[in-house]
Amino acid sequence: MQASENSHDDFLFIDDSDEDEILASDGNETWQVLIVDDDPEIHSVTQLALSDLVVLGRRLEYLHAYSGKDACQLIKEHSDIVLVLLDVVMETDDAGLNVVKYIREELQRKDIRIVLRTGQPGYAPEESVIKEYDINDYKTKTELTRRKLVTTVFAAIRSFQQIATVNENRQGLEKIVSGSTELSSQHSLSTFSQGVLSQLQTLISDDISAVFCARGQGIIDNIDDLSFYVLAQTGYDDNLINQKLDKLQSEVVSKQVKACFLQQKHHYQEDSLNLYVAKGDHRAVIHVSLSTPMTETQTQLLNVFLTGVAVGYENVHLFQKLTNAAYKDWLTNLPNRLEFVRLLDDFAQNTATNNVAALIDINHFSDINDALGQDIGNKLLTAVGQRLQSINRDCQFSRVGADVFGIIGSAEHVTPENLMAIFHQPFIAGEQHLPINACFGLCTKEHAQSSGVQVLNQINIALNIAKKNRLEHFAYYHSDIEDQMQWRLNMISQLRNDFSNDCLELWYQPQLSLATGKVIGAEALLRWRTADGQFVSPAVFIPLAEYSGLIIEIGDWVIKQACLQLQSLEKSYADISISVNVSIPQFRQDNFVENIINTITEHRINPSKLELEITENILMDEPQIIIDALTRLKSQGISIALDDFGTGFSSLSYLQKLPLDRLKVDRAFVTDIEKEGQSVIAETIISLGKKMQLKVIAEGIEELGQQERLIELGCDEVQGFYYAKPMPAEDFIEFLQQQS
Ligand code: C2E
Ligand code: MG
Ligand code: MG
Repeated sequence: MQASENSHDDFLFIDDSDEDEILASDGNETWQVLIVDDDPEIHSVTQLALSDLVVLGRRLEYLHAYSGKDACQLIKEHSDIVLVLLDVVMETDDAGLNVVKYIREELQRKDIRIVLRTGQPGYAPEESVIKEYDINDYKTKTELTRRKLVTTVFAAIRSFQQIATVNENRQGLEKIVSGSTELSSQHSLSTFSQGVLSQLQTLISDDISAVFCARGQGIIDNIDDLSFYVLAQTGYDDNLINQKLDKLQSEVVSKQVKACFLQQKHHYQEDSLNLYVAKGDHRAVIHVSLSTPMTETQTQLLNVFLTGVAVGYENVHLFQKLTNAAYKDWLTNLPNRLEFVRLLDDFAQNTATNNVAALIDINHFSDINDALGQDIGNKLLTAVGQRLQSINRDCQFSRVGADVFGIIGSAEHVTPENLMAIFHQPFIAGEQHLPINACFGLCTKEHAQSSGVQVLNQINIALNIAKKNRLEHFAYYHSDIEDQMQWRLNMISQLRNDFSNDCLELWYQPQLSLATGKVIGAEALLRWRTADGQFVSPAVFIPLAEYSGLIIEIGDWVIKQACLQLQSLEKSYADISISVNVSIPQFRQDNFVENIINTITEHRINPSKLELEITENILMDEPQIIIDALTRLKSQGISIALDDFGTGFSSLSYLQKLPLDRLKVDRAFVTDIEKEGQSVIAETIISLGKKMQLKVIAEGIEELGQQERLIELGCDEVQGFYYAKPMPAEDFIEFLQQQS
């Protein structure tokens, strides 16, 4: 080290001290200042000159290095050094400049302030170095009077402080910006509010405890009151979530939250914050309890952060609304079809093995809608949606279509019996009490395929089968069902083909009077002989024809055939009548009645010779439509018989409204009629027929004994294998000829 550098050492004691800068310190905090000089005396004079100096409320504390190398080591070890008073020329000419490079480049410390001092102006660094390395001041030692030194140190520390604040702000803002992006990706209220609390932790401190509160109504599912509920918490207990704030059992917190909400502004206190979050109609309060008071910077940053939170809070609500629109049914507030598919996905993929998914279809909902108006229809649907939930709260419910509901739950709860029980009592819609029933399609987890869409298809298939089922209104999906479906589709297309190729036949089974023993008529029965010469039973293909709607064309053909037959019987057997079976879908044709009347007129036959056989079940659906049609047909003179009587469920009140001529006692009540006590039903039907002044015909007589018992009971007419099996038209004519 050059001796010359120290030749002006006494400069530090030159006059102009200014006591203004020497202020009282207000605490124990200090500024760490590193003095770097190879001359020990410079260290002591500097320290002396700066003794008692208080900068921004803090005293200075000194570290000493006597070479560039030592300086680097100390700076590395003491991250709290704020200022380095640095000699330029030490062990080498540029030792000081190397320290500068080390600070700025190696350590990347842009905040540490550096004041270069040199005894020799000749060793002044380039101006570019001063700029590049952000050097606060460059002074020759001669320039550094005490006053100047104090001013320089003062300015440098102040500048350090500013940089620190800017840095803190920048970091805080970075947190806010990254926090906001993170928050804006949260779409659910719970993750958003939880996210806000963890951002607050980042911004303030990990030690805070906080609750995010809002009024429950409309925010938490199934909560309808205006008390404060906890949406998220940190530092308390997770059990608080979605519970009333009171559950926290802190009167202070409850009071503060309420006051903040009412006064609509933030409340900052030393130990707590109550932050008012509001945008549009969406309001919340965040209560934060602090372990240490916040700094001013934190408070400022918090304010910036909160504006973003309010916007985010409103967005989450809007998003929730959109989600609701996309996944919730607007009328019942239940999940909609889309959401039901997601629930079914879960049903199909989760590990629970004992669950069942089902669809519930209300029968004749559209009639109710048409007859009583949409308002009543909507009220009915709402009522059904509500009552469904009585099955069990743990089940998942959905409105899948206009009058179709979905349910997923345990096999114990989702049973046909429980589903049917829902419909035992009428529903109240406005002033109406509406008795309704429904069909149910079910699928157990065992049979469920692997995706929601597939399961929906499965329960839909089961539902369709249930709808077609006359006796039971529910069906479980099972693996054969699809094979059956395929088989049914094949049969239907074969039937359609054979029908259009004129391969169906109408056979006749004679009906006799028990009083005279004479043939009084015949029941026309369809026969389908397939290409291989085999007969397919009507009990098999009639339901398929009904299912496919083909029964309408086939039914028209049957009536026409029967009329042709009556026409040909006209001359020789004018008393013979023919009964034709008709199915429900035929009645749904608009011009059903007109068609029959036209056919009769066309063939110029006596309408009373044509009889239509309807089954009791026909009344289960739309009874009024059927009753009206039959009444019109009856008024034309056409005769009406009630087939398979006693096997259905029709109520007597409807029966009385039917314009009937004959009751047919089903074979089931005839088979065992001779046995002790087995004739009760036949007896009842016969006496009921008498009371209603109807003829009674028994079918399925196979033995003489059955005939005798029927005579005793006062039955009028019979039909059965005992007399004749159904036969082709020509055979029937022959049969008649033999009889006469
Ligand atoms: P159904 O109207 O109750 O017809 C009576 C059924 O009993 C006929 O069966 C007949 O062959 C059978 N039968 C008559 N006497 C006896 C007997 O003594 N013993 C036994 N074991 N059976 C007897 P089929 O012809 O198989 O018809 C079955 C069902 O198919 C009919 O029941 C009817 O509901 C339906 N069907 C037949 N033809 C038509 C049609 O043209 N249109 C409609 N819609 N349904 C039809
Ligand atoms: Mg019949
Ligand atoms: Mg019958």
